[in-house]
Amino acid sequence: MMKLEELSVRQIKGVSAQKEGELHAFGVHTVADLLGYFPFRYEDYRIRGLTEVKDGEKVTVQGKIMGDPLLQRYGKAKSRLTCKVVVDGVLVTAVWFNRHFLQEQIVPGRDIILTGKWEQRRLQLTVSESEFPDRGAARSGTLQPVYSVGGSLTQPWMRKTIKQALLQFGPMVEELLPTELMDKHRLMPRAEAIARIHAPDDSTEGQAARRRLVYEELFLFQLKLQAYRSLNRSRKDGVAIAVDPEIIRQFVRTLPFELTDSQKKVINEILADMRKPSCMNRLLQGDVGSGKTVVAAVALLAAVKSGHQGALMVPTEILADQHMRSLQRLFEPAGVQVGLLTGSMTERRRRDVLAGLLMGLTDIVVGTHAIIQEGVNFRSLGLVVTDEQHRFGVNQRSILRRKGMNPDVLTMTATPIPRTLAITAFGDMDVSTLRERPQGRKPIKTYWVKHGMLERVLGFIRREVDAGRQAYFICPLIEESDKLDVQNAIDLHIQMQQAFPDLAIGLLHGRLSAGEKDEVMRAFSDNEVHMIVATTVVEVGVDVPNATLMIIMDAERFGLSQLHQLRGRVGRAEHQSFCVLIADPKSEIGRERMKVMTETDDGFEVSRRDLELRGPGDFFGTKQSGVPEFKLADMAADFAVLEEARDDAADLTSRETFWTDAIYTRLREVLQKEQLFQGDLLD
Ligand code: ADP
Ligand code: MG
Repeated sequence: MMKLEELSVRQIKGVSAQKEGELHAFGVHTVADLLGYFPFRYEDYRIRGLTEVKDGEKVTVQGKIMGDPLLQRYGKAKSRLTCKVVVDGVLVTAVWFNRHFLQEQIVPGRDIILTGKWEQRRLQLTVSESEFPDRGAARSGTLQPVYSVGGSLTQPWMRKTIKQALLQFGPMVEELLPTELMDKHRLMPRAEAIARIHAPDDSTEGQAARRRLVYEELFLFQLKLQAYRSLNRSRKDGVAIAVDPEIIRQFVRTLPFELTDSQKKVINEILADMRKPSCMNRLLQGDVGSGKTVVAAVALLAAVKSGHQGALMVPTEILADQHMRSLQRLFEPAGVQVGLLTGSMTERRRRDVLAGLLMGLTDIVVGTHAIIQEGVNFRSLGLVVTDEQHRFGVNQRSILRRKGMNPDVLTMTATPIPRTLAITAFGDMDVSTLRERPQGRKPIKTYWVKHGMLERVLGFIRREVDAGRQAYFICPLIEESDKLDVQNAIDLHIQMQQAFPDLAIGLLHGRLSAGEKDEVMRAFSDNEVHMIVATTVVEVGVDVPNATLMIIMDAERFGLSQLHQLRGRVGRAEHQSFCVLIADPKSEIGRERMKVMTETDDGFEVSRRDLELRGPGDFFGTKQSGVPEFKLADMAADFAVLEEARDDAADLTSRETFWTDAIYTRLREVLQKEQLFQGDLLD
């Protein structure tokens, strides 16, 4: 028997080549596609009593025609047809516009079903559709599906064609879900659900059908993630990194601070993962300033001390440079060699680093994603760490795998992942969370001021600089115009130099060469410069603990998570730090953002409020969010189902029998179709 996924819609009676072409535009190619083309709502033709109807509501009622119809014509095409109908013992006036042809069917004593808008005061019904029970009245009493349609594919055509498809092929719809899950959640069979969602007898039935199909959609989605995860865990071709705990202890003793309990806990989680011969795929989330870098350093050290190499990938060259220097400082006593690899390096230096990696002379390489490109080869890569939302995708993994490497992967982010994303976009990862910040950190005091108060802000800068501290002054962001951003920074820099002729003020923007940027950041780090004026190039990860003042011009132009990231550049040591937002927001949402910033400096709370203001699709920017588009499921309303589906999928894929038993064949076929498993063996 042919599968419905392989049968063209042309097999459905009434679908011509032309209609087929139009269906393609809606993504409908096969019979299965059409059966899966679900209505987005229903039109209610169920017959109701007049007493339940509110004034102005659309309603379907049944009655008996009393007396002859009255037809008034206006010009050629316009007409008004009225007649009296008794509905539930009430004499009602039915009115049709431009339906003069109905006149002869309106016969006293005949039963009629009317759909239209009810006007309580005049006891009048303006009819949009009518049917006669003695002619079948097929539509009345039902919920009619409403599809998204267009072109010559009209609503009636779509209804008719899907009905026809159900008639011809409905019985061939195969079950996908194992019985145990259907029983557990009391779900109706797949064939029934598909038939019912297109033509429910009542709304309870429609909801039950929807519930079954939503579960299926979310379960199949989670099955892919969980299968990937379970496969990954069970394979033994990763690098087992076993390091002498004494080496780690020794390293920790050389740190200038005591690790927080949170840091100790996540380090243990990570080292336990690395010890296994399967591949680690772990997300480390922790608010800005919570101390993720040192956690990464310990993991990298473990890789190196067990005879492998490590890579640290970051989104910008400034960060690469900063991490490179801090790792060099940290690893100096341990005798670990750290190299830098970025896009703007000279060919000669690049060749040296590449040779060092290939021969194993370089233990750790820090860089932008140039690290993973073709042409970069390691002697034995044991661990890849990615910093700041730089997602290490399945693709990058398979590039490495093709090179014969299968390293552990640790992904670090300062943007706390909301629950919806954690379970969808990041559902294939294990998660560690840094809950506390290092001791002695004071909350960052955040103020929101109007532009008119710039003088006071300048006074603030003076005070902090006199106390030996440093400041950032961030320029407004002009969307889609890097050039204007740069000009803004240059202008503000001049203005600041005039206001503070005695201070050293640096300038940082995207048009500077990598070398120039590094030089500005180095001077700022070494406290040779009192303040830097910058575009958002400093946004992520930059760490200069002596800086205590973050001023953001036109702050309403930034999103909440970006503002929080920027604010996170201060408050990185024991000094009291401040964030000043200069803004005169015109929009409600702009004011709301300023309020959130002044009310909390907890990243989890900021991200929660951000999500409230924007919705999940927008969270990381649509492109990167990784939140899939679901056909039926609604991430907010169906979240509980998503969680159940995840647990079910994780449970199922962790069982040996899932990969062998015949009852799971259909599910394994679904998995096999996924690109996710390219290069992986699924038998
Ligand atoms: P983030 O999580 O934002 O990447 P970093 O790793 O850059 O944070 O750490 C922020 C600052 O806190 C750094 O200057 C780092 O040296 C310092 N730090 C990290 N852990 C601790 C700790 N346990 N106690 C004190 N300072 C710490
Ligand atoms: Mg960081």
